[in-house]
Amino acid sequence: MTKGGELTGLEKVAIISRVLSLRSEAVLAHPDREMGESAARRIKDLFAQRETGKPLAYITGEKEFFSHPFAVDGNVLIPRPDTEVLVEEALSILGGRPLMRSVVDMGTGSGIIGNTVARKSGRSVLCVDVSTPALSVAQKNGRDPAVSGRLTFLCSDLFYAVKKGARFDMVLANLPYVPEGEWEDLMKDVKEFEPALALLGGADGLDVYRSFVRALPDHMEEGGYVLCEIGSARQADMLGELLASVGCMVTKKKDLAGKERVVIGKWINS
Ligand code: GLN
Repeated sequence: MTKGGELTGLEKVAIISRVLSLRSEAVLAHPDREMGESAARRIKDLFAQRETGKPLAYITGEKEFFSHPFAVDGNVLIPRPDTEVLVEEALSILGGRPLMRSVVDMGTGSGIIGNTVARKSGRSVLCVDVSTPALSVAQKNGRDPAVSGRLTFLCSDLFYAVKKGARFDMVLANLPYVPEGEWEDLMKDVKEFEPALALLGGADGLDVYRSFVRALPDHMEEGGYVLCEIGSARQADMLGELLASVGCMVTKKKDLAGKERVVIGKWINS
């Protein structure tokens, strides 16, 4: 949207193409196209929704991640480019280690991490989320022939419902990490439309990660890797210490903006 709260031309085209099931090029090529009354009404309604601040991705029901379109709705976070660092690191680790097979995406949301890792590495991935409506979105994204049959879905609060004794070569996690005190500073469209359950992580943002790390020793394969997305250098240090305290060798990666974004632990303790 523009500062004055108007939709940009691109946003209008995205909404029109969605309603008319056309590519945006086709919409632009025929600006004088005729359309039925119900389509016109639907378009007007969606324009109005966008004007209230509802994110475009929730209106069109789609967002790209790693150059691939994913279905999204209000039950899942909108994929962020920040998360590409975690996926790139995961792929580079898996690339050189063909024997690493078992991968879990903890807090999968729309499934973008598990889906992209499965697509690019050929591995199978267990996608876990505590939210059933979020898992339905991940399942929908998993119907793609490029990954179907290689993704499994489990509704679980962290490792709670994961089989006892199940160990993984790689655990990927983009768990909630926004500190409660920073909620007010988030952008209005995030606060009002994205699921707080997927964002808020208690006073310092690391409550969910703390429970996650407590369960890790029962589920990591010797020599395996855990990769976690976080939001600040302070969180990277704190989570790094937690992982080290349960027996990981820890490294950190920055995102394209130069911000600490991923904490990587190599499991050497079991
Ligand atoms: N990067 C997201 C944000 O700042 C937070 C994602 C998360 O909590 N996992 O909006």
